[in-house]
Amino acid sequence: MSSMRAVTIRDCAIGGPDLVVMAGPCAIESREQILRAAEVVSSSGARFLRGGAFKVRTSPTAFQGLGWDGWKLLREAADAFSLLTVSEILDEEQIDGARRYVDFAQIGSRNMQNIPLLKALGRSHMPVMLKRGFGCTIDEWVHAAEYILGEGNPDVVMCERGIRTFETATRFTLDVAAVPIAKKRLGLPVIVDPSHAAGHREWVECLTLTGVACGADGLLIETHPDPAKALSDGPQAVVLSEFPALMEKARRLAHAMGRTIPAGARLEAAAC
Ligand code: PEP
Ligand code: MN
Repeated sequence: MSSMRAVTIRDCAIGGPDLVVMAGPCAIESREQILRAAEVVSSSGARFLRGGAFKVRTSPTAFQGLGWDGWKLLREAADAFSLLTVSEILDEEQIDGARRYVDFAQIGSRNMQNIPLLKALGRSHMPVMLKRGFGCTIDEWVHAAEYILGEGNPDVVMCERGIRTFETATRFTLDVAAVPIAKKRLGLPVIVDPSHAAGHREWVECLTLTGVACGADGLLIETHPDPAKALSDGPQAVVLSEFPALMEKARRLAHAMGRTIPAGARLEAAAC
């Protein structure tokens, strides 16, 4: 799409020929967990390490995240493996402190219509990933992006993560057509989160490949070294040891689509 504008975060362009992979656990839980995740995802070609430090949980008794200590661990692990970081920012007061730890500010599905937060991130000039509200139309999602853009921040990437339908076999329903439609409406990159749409790891591969096939500019995937022990979203986490094979499949399909998922750090080293 000729009018499409790439969003560049440090040295990484989202919306260019490379399909940008962002992966890691739902929540940062420990130093060991996030370091192991960083090692495997970087060697599989991911550019971003994901991990929530401030979690929006349905229940107040569920694990709420490690907070600022979590963000310090995320930065340490990402830096150790030359990754960038993406993490959810929950409120305006976190923005200034977050800059040291978070390269790409995620707005969660439950906050898509939190107008003060949209405007604050618009003023911040941090690159923003705007997840689609699971009960919101494409039109409402586009308008939410316009709140950020309207404050003078052009660096917005949209993320389709599934919407609520009558179907219960999956956690949400991935709205595939939303990807080209949002791209056309905004001229901005759109990425796909197969994990929250699937809800179960068994369906993550299908939705990952579907994301590649529908023209997503990136993928946001949850993976955990030991999903059975995960403190949040364990059922949908790809087992970390199986992540490289998933990336290889995505890479092959991306190639057929005229996109590239660069080889990971270790693979590149092996090729030299
Ligand atoms: C997440 O990425 O872990 C998350 C909470 O996603 P969403 O806001 O899409 O539910
Ligand atoms: Mn999650």
